[in-house]
Amino acid sequence: MRSLAATKRATFAWAQRLRNAIPASARVCEELAELDASGFASQMTCGMQIRNFIAGEFVEPVGGCYLENIEPATGKTYSHVADSDGRDVELAVTAAEKAFGKWSRTSAAERSRILLRIADLIDRDTERLARAESVDTGKPLSLARNLDIPRAASNFRFFATAILHTESEAHITDNVAFNYTLRLPLGVVGLISPWNLPLYLLTWKIAPALACGNTAVAKPSELTPVTASLLCEICREAGLPEGVLNVVQGTGQNVGAAITLHPKVVAISFTGGTITGRKVAESCAPMFKKVSLELGGKNPNIIFADADLDAAITGSLRSSFANQGQVCLCGSRVFVERPAYQSFVDRFVEKTSELSVGDPLEQDTDQGAIVSKNQLEKVKFYVDLAQQEGGSIAAGGSAPEAINDRCRGGYFFKPTVITDLPVSCRTNREEIFGPVVSVTPFDSEDEVVAYANDCDYGLASSLWTQSLNRAHRVAEKIHTGTVWINCWMLRDLRVPFGGMKQSGVGREGGDEALRFFTEPKNVCIAKQG
Ligand code: NAD
Repeated sequence: MRSLAATKRATFAWAQRLRNAIPASARVCEELAELDASGFASQMTCGMQIRNFIAGEFVEPVGGCYLENIEPATGKTYSHVADSDGRDVELAVTAAEKAFGKWSRTSAAERSRILLRIADLIDRDTERLARAESVDTGKPLSLARNLDIPRAASNFRFFATAILHTESEAHITDNVAFNYTLRLPLGVVGLISPWNLPLYLLTWKIAPALACGNTAVAKPSELTPVTASLLCEICREAGLPEGVLNVVQGTGQNVGAAITLHPKVVAISFTGGTITGRKVAESCAPMFKKVSLELGGKNPNIIFADADLDAAITGSLRSSFANQGQVCLCGSRVFVERPAYQSFVDRFVEKTSELSVGDPLEQDTDQGAIVSKNQLEKVKFYVDLAQQEGGSIAAGGSAPEAINDRCRGGYFFKPTVITDLPVSCRTNREEIFGPVVSVTPFDSEDEVVAYANDCDYGLASSLWTQSLNRAHRVAEKIHTGTVWINCWMLRDLRVPFGGMKQSGVGREGGDEALRFFTEPKNVCIAKQG
């Protein structure tokens, strides 16, 4: 009898032959449609296979194994993703190493031209990419169309042009020497990203890495692999030389760990959870690899009584529930100054209850599906825990009624507001990463600063107030990498982005990213005579 792995391999070899019979199809979404239309879709071969992209080609994983890729809105397998391992990482690193010499010497103008072309092609394919992102993650199609995909294009455009406008430092040492700083590409870099903003966050790493002349081995989350694969097609069409970008699909345990441990991968840019970030740091430390870690958050959202309450409520709805609360920057701990507390809670709860939870592909859906069954279970666990810790459910707290036939088995949860929780309970300290927020009153500025900082995380915060003095004062005292005042997630790609404490090490964005992906070398020339 054949083992399950051997059966899977044989089945996929068969599916591979089928696919090869279909003309020129690296376009994975279209492959799905074609396979379905020809009646070949079955439980095992259902739809597309998402393969690795190594040395400019889509290739099978060496072990021939695939993982099921589930659509969160339906709970059904709709594609399969390469279940790669260290052997695939080895091939990708070899390809990246081979490509490095030429790419690192390619002029900035040429690198810029290719990256701008990639940005244009992302724009051209917005609808296709947005649909793929929505199906893969469960996020509303409108969000993918208006945020995720345009931002992916902006990431390429930003770094494509940034490299045309950089400056080098020079230092004159009295009358004896002249120093200048070279910023050289690092070599092969490893880029690992999570599932919540798949293309948005992966391109936030790929674009600066390649712009600076590095070559890359990238790994998207195994839960959301599709848009990374579509990006590879785009890169090929844009003329990115083979081996400059390689994407290895698969689990963190098999692929992510192999990338971080590979001695020829000289730097790791990682975005994901704090526990995983710690493992990445442990792997990289003995080899002294350069590491950037963008990790979890439990962000405070502080509303003072003098705030424009309408704006604060609208902003808080976004910061609480955007992408079903699955944004690392979401303000999951809301603090409201006591004179405004009851009015805020009443209006916020009413607005929360009006958010429509529905099929992500439908136009009027505000809240789509949670990314996976595990994540949904985690959300439910914390809602139960919150009640054990004394919290009251003011809105949501359960799964919605059946949405439509298609989404009957999907992973949905109503946006949830919890009140009456003690400030330092587990629900208020641990990252839930779902559509759940707590609202807590406070009486003074010092008290709320202490609440905000009483947390292991330090990623982002929001303040709502009309007092400029207070805004500056509190912003300085809060321990987070970003403080938004009277706004949330208003992003300028030039600013340093990242977290303090257990939210990470290092910063992305603008010059910070250009510095991370280059090695500074000082050249000192003695003045003669
Ligand atoms: P995760 O840590 O489980 O996975 C992130 C990535 O790391 C995935 O690609 C995964 O396969 C890979 N991985 C897992 N184990 C690995 C290992 N041992 N070595 C190397 N790679 C490994 O995170 P997730 O569940 O995908 O994403 C949610 C988390 O990401 C949340 O904690 C969220 O706050 C965080 N996040 C942070 C930011 C930020 O900018 N700070 C942005 C988005 C998400």
